[in-house]
Amino acid sequence: MASIDENEEVLIHIGLDNYDSFNGGCTTHLATYILFLLFKELYKDVELIECPNLVRLNPAIPWKTRGNGAVAIRIRSRIKVLNKILRIVEESTQRYEETFSSDNGGLIIVLGDLPKELSLFYQKAVSDVVTIDFLEKILSRFLRNRVIYVNSYRRRGIIGALAAISWSTTRRSISYELIVYRSRKRYGYKNRLVDRESVVQFDKSYSNETFLNIDEEGKILITPHGPDPVLYGIRGLNPDVLLNALKEIRVLEGITGWCLFLSNQGTNDHVNYGYQFIKDAKPYRCVRIQGVLVEEPKIVRGGTIIVKICDSTSCIDAVVHKKSGLTSKIQMFTRGDYIELWGVVKYWGSINKPVVNVEGLIPIFITTKIDSRFVCPRCGNRLIKIGRGKGFRCVGCGYRTSIITYERISGNIRIVSKSLILPSKSAFKPLMKPLTMYLRPCKDIKKIRRCFEVIEPLEFL
Ligand code: ATP
Repeated sequence: MASIDENEEVLIHIGLDNYDSFNGGCTTHLATYILFLLFKELYKDVELIECPNLVRLNPAIPWKTRGNGAVAIRIRSRIKVLNKILRIVEESTQRYEETFSSDNGGLIIVLGDLPKELSLFYQKAVSDVVTIDFLEKILSRFLRNRVIYVNSYRRRGIIGALAAISWSTTRRSISYELIVYRSRKRYGYKNRLVDRESVVQFDKSYSNETFLNIDEEGKILITPHGPDPVLYGIRGLNPDVLLNALKEIRVLEGITGWCLFLSNQGTNDHVNYGYQFIKDAKPYRCVRIQGVLVEEPKIVRGGTIIVKICDSTSCIDAVVHKKSGLTSKIQMFTRGDYIELWGVVKYWGSINKPVVNVEGLIPIFITTKIDSRFVCPRCGNRLIKIGRGKGFRCVGCGYRTSIITYERISGNIRIVSKSLILPSKSAFKPLMKPLTMYLRPCKDIKKIRRCFEVIEPLEFL
């Protein structure tokens, strides 16, 4: 039997998800804590391969708490310290769960280079619903003998945890997020004491390299509103710029630590890997479909607009909510227009059928708008409908008829720019690609001297 070389180097991928609960906590916060303990206890024996990964998954998943984020930590170490690493990770996840009473947390640890087939798992997890059966298939086909720890196969968090690990096999573009954590004393306070002016100034200085700091009305977007330990998060393309936030953004409450994450945020992965035909637009899937509008856009309750779109495979209603900032844009379209829609499929309101919640659209072919109206055969004025089954009456001479004798058609060309139409900044979800990412897509991972710092012990204990 070949003996194991205890000094042999190994690559270790630690996947974590669902360690938050409605009582607080956040998987990124736990990851920062694990990194802190690993480096404190095993300083020379572990090397961080890259900043921990914050991987956002399918935004349509109904059981997410907030933004459906999972985390992967990738380190290099030696076989002889594996047991110590396992102990630290296992103990800290258990402690975290006890503190925040979360019970669906998933922890999975995989060794070695990852097979490229894992990209299938990430692509499905970011755009569709993954079943436990699919997870088990992937594990038995591609990761046999590689998984050295799983806390429980029955926990839903395992799906996100493995998806976060799998992301590195199919990275098309990347972004970063600096997350700063608050002191436990402030956990109950929803209001984050972050100086608005300093955020405005930061945004002005680095608008080309950061995104979604403030919305069009000047509202700050970097602070969350829940019971979680995050004080603020800044997203962008250049890690050095993000680290400047630590000096330039003024905060009036204590910081316990920060962590810089490499991320799939702002990449549009969910729609890029999403379904392209309407027949596949099933609930909780992400889609990127092209089709023809077969009806005029309809306004319904609350200012929401519905359009019916068809392709060669089927038809579906697409819904544009007022808060997306896209309603006036979708109203520019008319029957016959050929457009591309991005979004997620969900059940909507009282309509018990799936609809596409629109996140973005591209006009592809704009038809000439046909204005048709019925005119009076006597005087040429407009005919209006009197009521169901009662026919029409002329607004000019009062002539009544139930037979339409004449229809006037006029051509009217609309000016619709054929560029991508995006929602307002406050409606942006983490995976959606902001303008900055179109202008300067980021593909190369930068080597960073330091990805995290714990200033005082993370005070959740
Ligand atoms: P946090 O950011 O604090 O982790 P969250 O909003 O990310 O909160 P979670 O608490 O992680 O939400 O819950 C999402 C759950 O859904 C996780 O258990 C995850 O494993 C699971 N999940 C994520 N994506 C999919 C998917 N595509 N199919 C099935 N389950 C998924």
